[in-house]
Amino acid sequence: MTVLFPALRTSGDDPALRFGDRGLTYGELAATAGALAHRIRSAGGESPRVAVWATPSLETAVATVAALLAGVPAVPINPKIGQRELAHIVADSEPGLVLTEPGASLPPGLDSVTRVEVGLADRADPPCENDTDDESPAFVVYTSGTTGAPKGVVLPRRAVVSTLDALGDAWQWTADDVLIHALPLFHVHGLILGILGPLRRGGSVRHVGRFSPAAVAAELTTGATMMFGVPTMYHRIAGEVAGDAGLAEALAGARLLVSGSAALPVHDHERITAATGQRIVERYGMTETLMNTSVRADGERRPGTVGLPLPGVELRLVDEQGTPIEVWDGETVGEIEVRGPNLFTEYLNRPDATEGAFHDGWFRTGDMAVRDPDGYVRIVGRKATDLIKSGGYRIGAGEIENALLEHPGVAEAAVTGEPDADLGERIVAWVVPQGTPPSEEELAEHVATLLTPHKRPRVVRFLDALPRNDMGKVMKRALHG
Ligand code: ATP
Ligand code: MG
Repeated sequence: MTVLFPALRTSGDDPALRFGDRGLTYGELAATAGALAHRIRSAGGESPRVAVWATPSLETAVATVAALLAGVPAVPINPKIGQRELAHIVADSEPGLVLTEPGASLPPGLDSVTRVEVGLADRADPPCENDTDDESPAFVVYTSGTTGAPKGVVLPRRAVVSTLDALGDAWQWTADDVLIHALPLFHVHGLILGILGPLRRGGSVRHVGRFSPAAVAAELTTGATMMFGVPTMYHRIAGEVAGDAGLAEALAGARLLVSGSAALPVHDHERITAATGQRIVERYGMTETLMNTSVRADGERRPGTVGLPLPGVELRLVDEQGTPIEVWDGETVGEIEVRGPNLFTEYLNRPDATEGAFHDGWFRTGDMAVRDPDGYVRIVGRKATDLIKSGGYRIGAGEIENALLEHPGVAEAAVTGEPDADLGERIVAWVVPQGTPPSEEELAEHVATLLTPHKRPRVVRFLDALPRNDMGKVMKRALHG
């Protein structure tokens, strides 16, 4: 059995967690999470799991650590969840308890589940870790639902430990690091990387609540060293940083700015670099696999790429027949398959989906990519929504989105394919304009000139905003209505 958080025993007075103006040291966290772990064990009854009502709060972080200490798998739930999705998650994961902030109002879908309020003043002699086996489940995390109904992903402790240690190595992440956090706490990015990551390293995390470039600058100028963000956050920073010397200076001093959960547009990356000299580190992962690749802190930070497979992770590209692609030419597109200690064990109650997700023991990610000659991975997009078959070509949406974003009249862009009698599929660009709106012909010509003529959009549709989920990911399903 691996001890998940050695610092709970050894780093008593060091800061561990801060949310706004409330915080806990490691000693306080050990005592309060230890007390809650006892309650979880005694109140849990026969149920195999506990739900965590995952508001962006100190209580959610404590509840998660307590469930890990108790050895009972946690099911983080989005507090903005709709009734139908909640009913599905409760029926699917059968939690015996729901851990919440004091006074949180819970929806009727949780009425049948015993509620336990997290008391930050509760104390127990730290029982620290039980003897839970590394293969036993630590979490059931529901996927983002970007491409279909969310699936419950069963993550063993071994996957959590291996991914956090691989990131520790790749990012030279230490107890001296102070992480800026502004993400929700019911997905892998915000909860496992953003909360458990610093705790495993013995460093600390400051959750700033709602993201703003000003909040990030304020934390960086008062001792924070790194930030985890999603591309929509970096897009906002990119829009403000050239005109804000204070923000540029603060970002320039950061040790590590990390982006993930969706592709970081090259144009945003370059604008931030131009203003700050800072290059963002991109990493690529999924609920099912935790982290697969990253640019290393000491490696080349190449815009448009997600770097190399992390230590222990095996990654390959396969063609449509499932045959591995051996050439690394930056051109040949294949589906990413991965293998390694970072992988989930199964989709909860979905043996069919679990079996279908593997190919000869490799997990099919559904993501398409090319590899640069030195092995750096470039994600082209998702097989289901981002690979457009048009006029005999297989075209990735991401490259066209990046090209559109370089046009001064484009604030946001998403590219999809739609059935076409002549071409099989035609390329459709969905554009949120800025300044003087460009014409459809101008945008098509812009893409044809930057890339190649067959990649130009045949149709451009303008809209006020792209449909995005809570991680800022574009919900392409919603575009075609
Ligand atoms: P669902 O599986 O329910 O449709 P989802 O795939 O969005 O939702 P997650 O597991 O949260 O749910 O997201 C993983 C996906 O996010 C990856 O498969 C990939 O498509 C995308 N992704 C993550 N990081 C990156 C990145 N750095 N660049 C491009 N895409 C990324
Ligand atoms: Mg997915």
